[in-house]
Amino acid sequence: RIAYVNGRYVPHAYAQVHVEDRGYQFSDGVYEVCEVHDGHLVDETRHMARLGRSLKELRIREPMSAKALGHVLRETVRRNRVRNGLVYLQVTRGVAKRDHPFPKDDVPPAVVVTARAIDPKKSAKSAENGISVITVPENRWDRVDIKSVSLLPNVLARQAAEDAGASEAWFVDTDGYVTEGSATNAWIVDQDGRLITRPAEFGILRGITRTVVVDLAAREGVEIVERPFTVEEARKAREAFVTSATKLVMPVVKIDDAVIGNGKPGSIAGKLRELFYTQAEIAP
Ligand code: PLP
Repeated sequence: RIAYVNGRYVPHAYAQVHVEDRGYQFSDGVYEVCEVHDGHLVDETRHMARLGRSLKELRIREPMSAKALGHVLRETVRRNRVRNGLVYLQVTRGVAKRDHPFPKDDVPPAVVVTARAIDPKKSAKSAENGISVITVPENRWDRVDIKSVSLLPNVLARQAAEDAGASEAWFVDTDGYVTEGSATNAWIVDQDGRLITRPAEFGILRGITRTVVVDLAAREGVEIVERPFTVEEARKAREAFVTSATKLVMPVVKIDDAVIGNGKPGSIAGKLRELFYTQAEIAP
């Protein structure tokens, strides 16, 4: 495997960053994960736009143009011979003497890109059976709209899910509303067939897959309501699912101890998963 590290393509085993990289010391950095489908990047434009926003919110300088970054992503995918999988891009504020405020000197941001294959059959198998999720208290900071590498609460939530034999954890705020998954956005279908997902203005990351699925549902004539929903509602929902660049539309058949619908993936989730690429942007 090959990784891109600050201007060089290096063997994965030797891909290293400095001990005083601010990403390593302060989680002072942002990232994107882009799906690779048949050797092409999915929704590159939207991912680049969100990266630009994350960088701007943290006042980290753009390391290079979106076009140049796109080239690095593609080159990393190519060198790793990934047909289906993901490409990971991380930008940190760079290397500086450890001190909390932003470095005064013009430190160049540090850029890392890796790519790896994922067997599409595995994901398809999960989608056929559906996944289980657990719920955990929301304990993240309130700027989760920034796709920062500060992911410790997400890591702990996801591990709690694994420990419970589930695949994902949904964060739940103090009022009982689901915010989102540890690495996915959360959705339900109510008993009237309406698609419900939390508005992306506050408290969640605006998932690229979420945006695509909102468009797709509208196109398919599925009524969609962007509002917060509670765990109680979710437990009684007709369907539930999660979305992300790596899971696409993944049906949820169990939330904690509650079986969703008839315990099988729902038809709306299945349809949206099937149609995903008709609305996504597949860049050459
Ligand atoms: N929410 C969180 C916390 C995430 O980390 C992710 C993706 O990693 C998502 C939602 C889904 O976003 P996307 O569809 O852009 O992958």
